[in-house]
Amino acid sequence: MSTMTETRTQYEAVIGLEVHLQLLTKTKIFCDCSTRFGDPPNTHTCPVCLGLPGALPVLNREAVTMALKAALALNCTVNPMSRFARKNYFYPDLPKGYQISQYDEPLAEHGYLEIELEGKRERIGITRVHLEEDAGKSLHEGFADSDRKSYIDLNRSGVPLIEIVSEPDLRTPEESYEYLTRLKTLMLYLDVSNCNMEEGSLRCDANVSLRPVGSTEFGTKIELKNLNSFRFLQKALAHEINRQSEILSGGGTLEQETRLWDSREQRTYGMRSKEFAHDYRYFPEPDLLPLVITNEWKDEVRRSLPELPLAREDRFLRDYGLPRQDAVLLTSSRAMADYFEAVVAAAVDPKLAANWILNDLIFALQENGKNFDDRPVPPENLAELLKLVARGDISGKIAKDVLPEMVRSGKRAGEIMAEKGLAQINEPDKIAEVARQIIAANPKQVEQYRGGKTATMGWFVGQVMKATGGQANPKLVQDVLKRELSVDGK
Ligand SMILES: [Zn+2]
Repeated sequence: MSTMTETRTQYEAVIGLEVHLQLLTKTKIFCDCSTRFGDPPNTHTCPVCLGLPGALPVLNREAVTMALKAALALNCTVNPMSRFARKNYFYPDLPKGYQISQYDEPLAEHGYLEIELEGKRERIGITRVHLEEDAGKSLHEGFADSDRKSYIDLNRSGVPLIEIVSEPDLRTPEESYEYLTRLKTLMLYLDVSNCNMEEGSLRCDANVSLRPVGSTEFGTKIELKNLNSFRFLQKALAHEINRQSEILSGGGTLEQETRLWDSREQRTYGMRSKEFAHDYRYFPEPDLLPLVITNEWKDEVRRSLPELPLAREDRFLRDYGLPRQDAVLLTSSRAMADYFEAVVAAAVDPKLAANWILNDLIFALQENGKNFDDRPVPPENLAELLKLVARGDISGKIAKDVLPEMVRSGKRAGEIMAEKGLAQINEPDKIAEVARQIIAANPKQVEQYRGGKTATMGWFVGQVMKATGGQANPKLVQDVLKRELSVDGK
């Protein structure tokens, strides 16, 4: 272990991430075929996305608008003119023999994404954002003859993607994880991608090299692929940094190569070395005009941007006086942040709302397989429940039982309480009856209270609440107990 700590201090990692995001357009980037996920194979195809000779691509304006949103939110400079290029390589799921992408004239460049690590904000450079089409999908498993044959599904061929390339500004696996998390949150806010990793809507490759601490030159770059989750990315980077530092500190050298993460074995292994590296022979796509972005188009998109997550986090801290952790969590999803603001707008204390949303409501939603987009509990219904709690009209304990039922049934708090016989006990006589029994059974505590130890009141309230299953009106219980416990019983 001592060598590991030693090498860790000797070398620093230089990490850059390449993220591919599928855009949420209804149709593909160069034809009218649907982009819907999960339909039977090869049902969304046409001569264009099948790559048949003579078929001509027509650029989908909506895809460009979404890419612009992403580029502007990433603080990039949008190029007034960019160009599509053919990236040539042969692969069975790429029927044209090339992919239409952007090369030396991308849509947007020179931006940054702000991340937050241990309360500190940091800007990670964005090299470029460009548009491209996706390839099809090879299916190597799941068929009776899968041991001999591979199948191709071209539904995904021609689906619009953006590639977001970061500068090599990241230094640790944790920072890289945070970058990816922030990027995903931002893209979800913009509604340009569903960022679903399982469906392949978000894919991430990493470049990592090591260099002696203090050096400004770059070491040998290793590309990491097959990072199918954010945790895998973090683990693969940590593994790779250790592997490289052991080789370098042992006097060895590294070869530029692509390595895959094996999540079962928790290690990376080499896929192809430099000799097999692709020469894509990019050249301008002759079937598409240069992409011109007018200032009007850019301004229109800029105006359509929502309040972005970090700005919203700052506002939540400032306007609602929330603890940072709450502000971070609430703004991690636009739907949840919107929900919180709707509850607060109904005159509920922000801290009370934050507590209930981040604890009981999230838990109940998860239990029922629902999320904030479904709005199973309308914000005004949660507001109603929380106002009852705040006024002391119902106990927190009953509210905690009622809320999951509200999520399950969609009913309002009052309805559920009536149905379940959870209605509050508001009759002073009924409460007094319970209080007297408890007072009679606990002479010692009565003596303490009357002797001036008024804190015992809390204990008595607890006993009455317990005896009534939490249904007694807590404020009435206080009043009744004070009267019953006073020496003259008045
Ligand atoms: Zn098509």
